[in-house]
Amino acid sequence: MSILDHSAIDYVGRTLHTADSYGKPGKTITAKADAVIVGAGPSGLVAGTILAESGWDVIIVEAGRFWHHESFQRRQSWAAKYLMQEQATRIMTGNAFIPVASGRGVGGGTLVNSAICFRAPKWVLDEWVEEWGLDYFEESQREALFAEVEEVIGVEPTSPDVAGENSMIARKGFDALGVDHGFMPRNAPGCVGCGTCQTGCPVGGKATADLTWLPRFLRAGGVLYADTRAEEIRVHNGRAIGIDAVMYDPEDNGEQAVFSIDADRTLVAAGAIDTALILQRQQLADSSGHLGNNLRVHPTCGVVARFDNRDIRLWSGATQGYYAHHPHNRDILLETFSASPDVFMTQMGTVGEIDPGEFLRTFRHLAACGLLLRDSSSGSVRPGDDGTARIRYRVGRRDVQKLRAGLYTVIDMFYEAGSRAIMPMVDGTRYFSTHRLARQHVAARNAASNFSLYSSHPMGTCRIGDDPDRCVVRPEDGQTYDVEGLHVVDSSLFPTAMGANPQVTIMAQALALGRRIAERS
Ligand SMILES: Cc1cc2nc3c(=O)[nH]c(=O)nc-3n(C[C@H](O)[C@H](O)[C@H](O)COP(=O)(O)OP(=O)(O)OC[C@H]3O[C@@H](n4cnc5c(N)ncnc54)[C@H](O)[C@@H]3O)c2cc1C
Ligand code: SF4
Repeated sequence: MSILDHSAIDYVGRTLHTADSYGKPGKTITAKADAVIVGAGPSGLVAGTILAESGWDVIIVEAGRFWHHESFQRRQSWAAKYLMQEQATRIMTGNAFIPVASGRGVGGGTLVNSAICFRAPKWVLDEWVEEWGLDYFEESQREALFAEVEEVIGVEPTSPDVAGENSMIARKGFDALGVDHGFMPRNAPGCVGCGTCQTGCPVGGKATADLTWLPRFLRAGGVLYADTRAEEIRVHNGRAIGIDAVMYDPEDNGEQAVFSIDADRTLVAAGAIDTALILQRQQLADSSGHLGNNLRVHPTCGVVARFDNRDIRLWSGATQGYYAHHPHNRDILLETFSASPDVFMTQMGTVGEIDPGEFLRTFRHLAACGLLLRDSSSGSVRPGDDGTARIRYRVGRRDVQKLRAGLYTVIDMFYEAGSRAIMPMVDGTRYFSTHRLARQHVAARNAASNFSLYSSHPMGTCRIGDDPDRCVVRPEDGQTYDVEGLHVVDSSLFPTAMGANPQVTIMAQALALGRRIAERS
């Protein structure tokens, strides 16, 4: 039986409410629940499911829409407007220009992610247990947590049938280099290899949180309001007692309903940027002075390569179908990627001289592969005067070295796979006919601003750990040290960067914390 469950739509107008099904200007609603959860990304939906299945009355509010996969449009501009926070305009400032993307909607980042499913590496989990006291990730417990998540979301290596030519190029090149490599583990059992995960899966073949955890949540009696933004956490005598929220018309932003939700427990699962903003706006939970700091993002950079006698057709095949580990540095993970021509032209236009006509004519011959860093650099999030996020991040010298090391391996991979036109995404780039020339060009780039960087894994802004002087949240049950009844369960908890794509670890953590909240109450 398929794990893809498309039944949530049957609950629209019953316990899954949207501005269309529910809203009416001027409507004021008071509600009561055992727990209210802010955000229906993977962490919010996992924690909500666990609590609802434990017999709790749970309400989730989600600022974005509830989508049916047939509504997804395969255009970046459409996805930016409807599926991304702040319409994909969030940029980190510091010593480099780095966009930071977060998803929006029922399903959160899983709607737009590439379905890559890695567990946090063992040595990172060991560090989190030993240095930060995250006992739920102790060796005796972690296997069961990860296995449970992977079963629910259907993690499998990408089938060669849908992996596409880009993956086959990487397989050949990485094999020749002798590094550890393989077809990408992904949660996309219905993938047909259309290469557009980042605008929503148009065939509903990706096991997003709305097709896995959400139906379970609804079946267990959970209630979800989409198009509904939490505006304030209500606090009385040092204890969180629920939230105020507003349901908006998603097209014209008109107010459709005002909510006052009383709850014994308030869980914030709005993602690492928005959770920090929500708490900071009310100056909640910051006795450590660390709220909003310690931002990690896994910076990424890439290389494209032309194979003149081969059709790669980046638009066909799994969005990110192949990976390899760096031979010498475990903080570097190498992953193929695809994107539409406009995305490549924007990225490369900022760093090199490209002739758009020539680029489009040869697009079918291009392959692409990137790298992801486990960053030791860090940044911070603060609310701006206009309500948007102000995000600062400085890429440190060690991470610049890692960027170079990762690019060298990807360049070598493409050379071994047969390309004689290799273009690393760094300042002044062009096609280089040998790996040596491409490497030399990268070696001369010393500043972080010389690299075309991107990020989509914000984490760490509400650090969890057993030391209240350094952490915002306690490991016993995800409750903030300062405000009773106020919990955080999302990617903002990670004490350090985790070093691989995070959704599986986020869900495993939400599973553990959801159970602890249910047990301790
Ligand atoms: C383009 C892209 C590609 C990615 N690819 C991968 C991948 O292949 N594999 C992987 O492991 N990870 C990937 N990630 C990262 C992964 O999807 C995220 O780390 C994960 O979704 C974070 O989960 P979360 O629950 O912490 O928050 P999110 O998924 O960000 O969910 C938070 C939710 O809260 C809502 N929200 C925010 N503020 C409010 C408010 N005030 N009121 C109500 N709701 C609110 C948001 O709309 C959002 O839906 C990718 C991310 C992006 C953006
Ligand atoms: S590549 Fe596969 S999982 Fe991604 S959007 Fe296309 S069909 Fe869906």
